[in-house]
Amino acid sequence: MGSLIRSMARRQARTSTVARPAVPWVAYAPPAAVEVVDTPPAIKPDKGLLGGSCNRTACQAPGATWVHADSGAHYCRSCALEINRWARRDHGTLLCSPIKPVEPRHCDDYIDDPAQPECLRRFLAYNRLPAAAKYPTDNESYNARMEEYLGCAMWRDPVPALFADHAGRRVRVVMASRFGDVGITTNLDAERGYVARVAVDDLSNFSATPA
Ligand SMILES: [Zn+2]
Repeated sequence: MGSLIRSMARRQARTSTVARPAVPWVAYAPPAAVEVVDTPPAIKPDKGLLGGSCNRTACQAPGATWVHADSGAHYCRSCALEINRWARRDHGTLLCSPIKPVEPRHCDDYIDDPAQPECLRRFLAYNRLPAAAKYPTDNESYNARMEEYLGCAMWRDPVPALFADHAGRRVRVVMASRFGDVGITTNLDAERGYVARVAVDDLSNFSATPA
């Protein structure tokens, strides 16, 4: 095709000196309005919001759970990683990081919080002690050496009990775990043996006695 066009052009060049018949003017008609294919994408109302649509206009995928450190806008994971790739290359830093789900407050946080009920704080303080500190012996010099070793005082008061409301029922709290949750049972006489593990936040109306 190219060679054909070139040979025709050469032939035309050779005959260019020959007078060509006059071509009548043809009115130039502009093409019909071309439909704009590249319409700007619709902006979703939750664009850039946490858990909403990705802030990159061309993406706007649901589940924007990565936050941009500068703008505070939220992106989907794939766009956030792409932004980070460029940021690392150009600035040696990462801009986007995933939002971690809000975790319930660890039970240890309540122990030193004066705003919390005393019975809750005492129950947790006891139950989160090292096991050896829960059971002082009759031998005070042994206890003293153990306290020195543990770095905390032994619990010499009566073992505290704790009751609370959970999901509309009165429950007894019988365990506090290092993971931050507590164990509960609906058997108010039980001192151990939980049937469910819940966050302290899920409990209310604390008391040291069942009522
Ligand atoms: Zn995206």
